[in-house]
Amino acid sequence: MAFETNEQVLEKILSLEKPICPYCGTEMGLWEVPPINFSDGLGWGVPYLYLCFNYNCPLYEGGWDNLRENYTQNASHRCICYPGTTQFECMPVFSPIGAQGQIIDDQALTTAEMLKERPNAGFQC
Ligand SMILES: [Zn+2]
Repeated sequence: MAFETNEQVLEKILSLEKPICPYCGTEMGLWEVPPINFSDGLGWGVPYLYLCFNYNCPLYEGGWDNLRENYTQNASHRCICYPGTTQFECMPVFSPIGAQGQIIDDQALTTAEMLKERPNAGFQC
């Protein structure tokens, strides 16, 4: 794949159809991978992934009991998908709001655009 900036990658991904979670049949949301994952060896090698944000997803709901019983961990899984592929994998999450902060939805993109136009809006100390 040619070298691309994250913005170019995002543009391409946004033009793709969102995958459907194989566990619950819900349309998956786009998730920006935190940069820290790239430095600690846990990275997925892509800046964006699709993630199932459905709280009623069987993979997510069942994961809490499964991990607590088998690994004494208070964690669960969510289903992820590599954009442009049909490769579905599980990602661990450690709280009910795990990964929620980085959903890229239309609202977030609109907000980002607004801030770009009015750089002094928000983020004031
Ligand atoms: Zn799901």
